[in-house]
Amino acid sequence: MIRFEQANVTYAGGVSAMRNLDLEIADGEFVVIVGLSGAGKSTLIRAVNGLVPLTSGNLDVNGHDVPNLDRKGRRALRSEVGMIFQGFNLVDRTTVLNNVLMGRLHQVPTWRTLIGKYPQADIDIAARALDRVEIVDRAYVRATNLSGGQRQRVGIARALAQEPKIILADEPVASLDPPTSHVVMKYLQQISRELGITTIVNLHFLDLATAYADRIIGLRDGELVFDGPGSAADENT
Ligand code: ADP
Ligand code: ADP
Repeated sequence: MIRFEQANVTYAGGVSAMRNLDLEIADGEFVVIVGLSGAGKSTLIRAVNGLVPLTSGNLDVNGHDVPNLDRKGRRALRSEVGMIFQGFNLVDRTTVLNNVLMGRLHQVPTWRTLIGKYPQADIDIAARALDRVEIVDRAYVRATNLSGGQRQRVGIARALAQEPKIILADEPVASLDPPTSHVVMKYLQQISRELGITTIVNLHFLDLATAYADRIIGLRDGELVFDGPGSAADENT
């Protein structure tokens, strides 16, 4: 479970990007956050994995007391949280499989990753992750040779290979065309449902949110202004 209590984030310049947020997200929920640019969506997502510190308030993420974590605690938290980015953040010159194996960095001894020798078990996990987004046939292709939609599917597979409890996706479809955006949202929804992974997705567009979310949260100027079911929630009941 993720629970914000009276959480505030004020940046150095004085911008209040999160204002008195009270929000509880249950295990396995598929939540979409909508709001204009600057509404505080990224701030919320980055708070969950401890990248943005709260100025005040409480935040519990799966039992981690986020504002009071030491280095070891922060590392433990981040190993449980898979991240998906707008710009995919793939390493272009290496293969799809190697990119997905980077999701195993928390679990594999560093010396093995440095010499590129991953245990077979980790390669199997990476292959299964690629299979979930139906791109396992491109495992040995360089990431640079993929389309945008395929790159984001690899981004999803990399997050999955981490075997996370939570997936955070910050504007994952912002650089994709509408049909491709639907495909990516569909995979994210499926993965959340089938594997029970709590998923938070930031989006600009409400139409994608209503199509796929169990729950939609609206932010404006750092404030929660809407919290209600998406139409996908009906299918579950
Ligand atoms: P996005 O809206 O996609 O998050 P931004 O352009 O807002 O992209 O942010 C890009 C980076 O710049 C982020 O790391 C963000 O934290 C940082 N950033 C955004 N606004 C400011 C600001 N006013 N001062 C300093 N850093 C900022
Ligand atoms: P969104 O993701 O909805 O576009 P953000 O969370 O990126 O919103 O930003 C919320 C507000 O905080 C914006 O006004 C942005 O400029 C500001 N901001 C974001 N990151 C930083 C930062 N690192 N330093 C200062 N201001 C920031």
